[in-house]
Amino acid sequence: MALSLVFPNRDELGKAKQLLNRLCYEYHEVNSLAHLDEAAVPFLVVRENGSEAVHTLLQAKVALSGRVEYRPPLEDVDQGLPCPPEGQEDIVGRVVVMSLTPCAADPEKIRLIAHISGDLSKVMPYLNAVRRGSYNPNANTFSYIDAGRMISLFQSKIAAAKAHEVLDGYATLWRIKCWINAVWARRESIELSYESRKAINVLEIFKRLPGTNCRKCGELTCMAFAALTLQGKHGIAECRPVFENGEYPQLLPPLQQIADGYGL
Ligand code: SF4
Repeated sequence: MALSLVFPNRDELGKAKQLLNRLCYEYHEVNSLAHLDEAAVPFLVVRENGSEAVHTLLQAKVALSGRVEYRPPLEDVDQGLPCPPEGQEDIVGRVVVMSLTPCAADPEKIRLIAHISGDLSKVMPYLNAVRRGSYNPNANTFSYIDAGRMISLFQSKIAAAKAHEVLDGYATLWRIKCWINAVWARRESIELSYESRKAINVLEIFKRLPGTNCRKCGELTCMAFAALTLQGKHGIAECRPVFENGEYPQLLPPLQQIADGYGL
C-alpha cells in the first residue's frame, strides 16, 4: 500500500530521505502549500513497502508526525494566500503538524493535529461571536464545522478531522489560520461572546427539513440527508424543495441559518 509520510520539521524529513535513499526505498517528495510556514514541510509518498519503510524509520528514531494511505490530491486544493497580510498581527503563530491519522469514524478521511506557537484562548470569544460552534470558555475549546471538516481549537492546538488527504488537511489548517487572524484583526468591531453552545447534531438538522423523503437530494430519506450533510457529503442547499423550488418558504430561514452558522 502506498503511504504518505509526514514529518514535524525539515530536519526529520532530511534524515528520512537519507535513510530511504541508503536502503533503496522508492519514494517521491510532495511539496506542501507555499504559504503554510512550518507546516509546509514536504511529505514523502512511499509507493511500495510503505509499512516496512515506516518500521525502518521508527527504528532509526526518525520522528514521524504520522502516516496515512496515499490519495492523490483533489484538483481544487486551495493553495492559499500569504496570511496574515503584512503589518497584521499573527495570533496563531507557527503551525507544526504533530499528528496525522485516519479518522476513527471514517478511515477514508484523515485527522491532523497541529501545535501552534500562539494562544487561541484570547480570540475564542470573538470567534464564538461570529460563528456558530461549540464553545467552552472554562476549558478554552471551540469546535465548528468547516466545509464538512470538523475543527477543534484549543489554547495551543488545532485539530482538523475529515480532511480528504494530506494536502487538503494542510489547506484546511491554512484556512483556519487565515480566518482566526482575520477575526482577530477586526476584534474591536466585534462584541465578545462567552455564550456556551452545544455542537449541532443530526436531529437538529432533520427537524428543520420537510420530512417528505422525496429523494430529490439523492438520498432515500431526510434523515440520511441530515446525517450525510453533517459528515460533509452534502450541503444543506441540496434540499431542492426548500432551496430551489420554494415549496417550503417557512423552512428556508432556519435551514439557511444553520447553513451559514455551521458552514454546512
Ligand atoms: S430533498 Fe429535502 S425533503 Fe427531499 S429527501 Fe432530501 S432532504 Fe428530504
